[in-house]
Amino acid sequence: MKKTIFLDRDGTINIEKEYLYKIEDFEFEAGVLDALKIFKELKYQVLVVTNQSGIARGYYDEISLKKLNDYMMEIIEKNGGKVEHCYYCPHHSEKGIGSYKVQCTCRKPLPGLLLNGIEDYNVNISKSFMIGDKISDIGAGINAGIQPILVRTGYGIKTISENHIEIPIYENLLEFALELKSKEEKLLYRKEY
Ligand SMILES: [Zn+2]
Repeated sequence: MKKTIFLDRDGTINIEKEYLYKIEDFEFEAGVLDALKIFKELKYQVLVVTNQSGIARGYYDEISLKKLNDYMMEIIEKNGGKVEHCYYCPHHSEKGIGSYKVQCTCRKPLPGLLLNGIEDYNVNISKSFMIGDKISDIGAGINAGIQPILVRTGYGIKTISENHIEIPIYENLLEFALELKSKEEKLLYRKEY
């Protein structure tokens, strides 16, 4: 069983831009590449879980999304990190067109994307985290039985102002990664002595 970081994409990994799909518009949030390197060093596997209703709405297609995700994963690897897989929900129950207009089980806060990841990647639920900037990310973590973490990037500050949040909050992904590293190092120290 593997400890795993589930990561929202827009607003957590990259700067939130409505219905982003062009590679030239993709910008990493500050410190994210360093955070991903730390996760790899600490032997966490990383799975991305992202709602992409822009596909359902007909703003872009799955091929464009996959190209953008591949680009993102390539840059992450070049910088010492690793994303195992990007899970996405292309659906929307009201705004979707054609076969994308369904009441699916994967649009966060529903846990479908995370449950797929748990099954495909042998996830140790009790040692894993779901990190994102929206209430739907927190909900997805809770619904999958995974500890949710909120970051202030993206819609994070708005999420905090509009909800009563009782889970850990970090400035950004790097702040979380650094604290995780410090906690794991303390655990190691205790094991050795
Ligand atoms: Zn879905």
